[in-house]
Amino acid sequence: MLQTARPEADIRREPKLWIGGQWVDPIDGEMGQSIDPSTGAVWAEVAFAGPKDIDRAVAAAREAFNGPWRKMLPWERAAILRRLADIYKERAPDLAVLESRDTGRAIREIRGEFANHHHFWQWFASLADKLDGRAVSVDPAVHAFTSRLPVGVVGAITPWNAPMLTTIWKIAPALAAGCTVVHKPAELTPVTAFELARMMEEAGIPAGVYNVVPGYGHIAGAHLVAHEDVDKIGFTGEGATAKEILRTGAHTLKRFSFELGGKSAHILFDDADFDQAMNAAVGSSFAVCGQSCALGSRILVQRGLYERVTGEFPGRAGKVRVGMPLDPETHMGPQSNIKQLEKTLSYIEAGHADGARLIAGGNRITTDGMANGYFVQPTVFADVTNEMKIARDEIFGPVVSLIPFDTEEEAIGIANSTRYGLCAGLWTRDVSRAHRVAAQIEAGTVWVNTYRYIRWALPYGGMKASGWGRENGVEALDSYLETRTTVISTTGQFPDAYAS
Ligand code: NAD
Repeated sequence: MLQTARPEADIRREPKLWIGGQWVDPIDGEMGQSIDPSTGAVWAEVAFAGPKDIDRAVAAAREAFNGPWRKMLPWERAAILRRLADIYKERAPDLAVLESRDTGRAIREIRGEFANHHHFWQWFASLADKLDGRAVSVDPAVHAFTSRLPVGVVGAITPWNAPMLTTIWKIAPALAAGCTVVHKPAELTPVTAFELARMMEEAGIPAGVYNVVPGYGHIAGAHLVAHEDVDKIGFTGEGATAKEILRTGAHTLKRFSFELGGKSAHILFDDADFDQAMNAAVGSSFAVCGQSCALGSRILVQRGLYERVTGEFPGRAGKVRVGMPLDPETHMGPQSNIKQLEKTLSYIEAGHADGARLIAGGNRITTDGMANGYFVQPTVFADVTNEMKIARDEIFGPVVSLIPFDTEEEAIGIANSTRYGLCAGLWTRDVSRAHRVAAQIEAGTVWVNTYRYIRWALPYGGMKASGWGRENGVEALDSYLETRTTVISTTGQFPDAYAS
């Protein structure tokens, strides 16, 4: 039988918060634990912040905003961020191991992802000294121009599924814009943020520019959101949490950007390149153990291909090697936490109850040393209709729905018949159809003959209930900037309104 508790010496400890460039004891926080989802055992103990710790972090961020970070020349800020990118690139392999422990994601997948993270830092560093405004021609009697100013102190609240990536998507544009940050990582996966703090210090980021205060959402997160001296919240997580955040922060009228869930349609037309489309459809079903907002979890298959797709999918799903996250042979690790395991299993039940046809997986895995972990088989339901629960809700597990359709119009209708609008994909060899269909999909990103192609330069985010605003691209930078319009009279004349 596997142990449920690790020997004390094996437990990683991060007993202090990173505030104002110092490692400090929590004032009213506590020690929290991170569970290794492959064993169910505690693998790390981490300082969690309380409200007073959040106050202290916000004060430090404000001081840094009014002080060194704001006063620094833009090219100096850019140089520091480039240094951070270099340090990050060097540390990425070690950081990947920590993220694998925290999230349970397979190391081979995480290494691949982390090998690209430095590009995000580099790309935003390259924008830090290009925050130009523009001259606006209105009238020769005035010289009008705009300037771009940092929003101020940013509260970054991040989720557990891709802790570092969702962190970089906020912190890189925020720092490039000249903002300072109080970061509250997810309580379930707080470890990598501490390493990021160490890298920031090494890169020469001034004290207080980046502060790390993990903790519970309803305590540390809520206090950060309600704080009068926080100018913006950048959030990734669930829609229900975003609504709660809006309620909590409404009285402050701060800015919000939200990256929320998805239930993306992945449409396979009859004329698709079958093998490539299957590679993408299977890959985007089970990546990140199904715990990614971008996955094509509703696979819409045109009738002419349907039998072939349902025939081939089980064999392809069966080739996904589920196992221990740090085993380099493992494709897919466990679900990241027990709550998510229970949620995924409940949706498998719902699929059965609604009459979908299970063609692969469908069970928790408890063999081969996985008994105490949160492992689930790659699961495929066929003959799903868009009304079924498994087709409507974001499951966030390795459970995918195959939905047949006949016409292009029907596919577009099904794709858009969801409250979400994050991503979509379509496979066709007909270039006219590609443009025609892509133009009608209500989603922040549409991929044609590819899937999950996400890059630093490409705006990413959701329509409808999938979010507010965009991360990545220059649009992300915009969301951490205010525009000031300055109007200067070239005549110095101002008429007396009451002269006659
Ligand atoms: P979550 O909403 O439960 O938690 C996210 C963060 O919010 C955590 O740090 C949590 O502590 C904090 N939080 C919780 N309650 C809070 C409150 N009342 N006030 C302030 N903060 C609070 O989300 P999760 O389960 O960690 O993440 C999974 C979700 O994130 C999924 O819905 C997924 O689709 C979404 N996601 C979206 C994207 C995207 O780019 N669109 C990327 C990754 C994940």
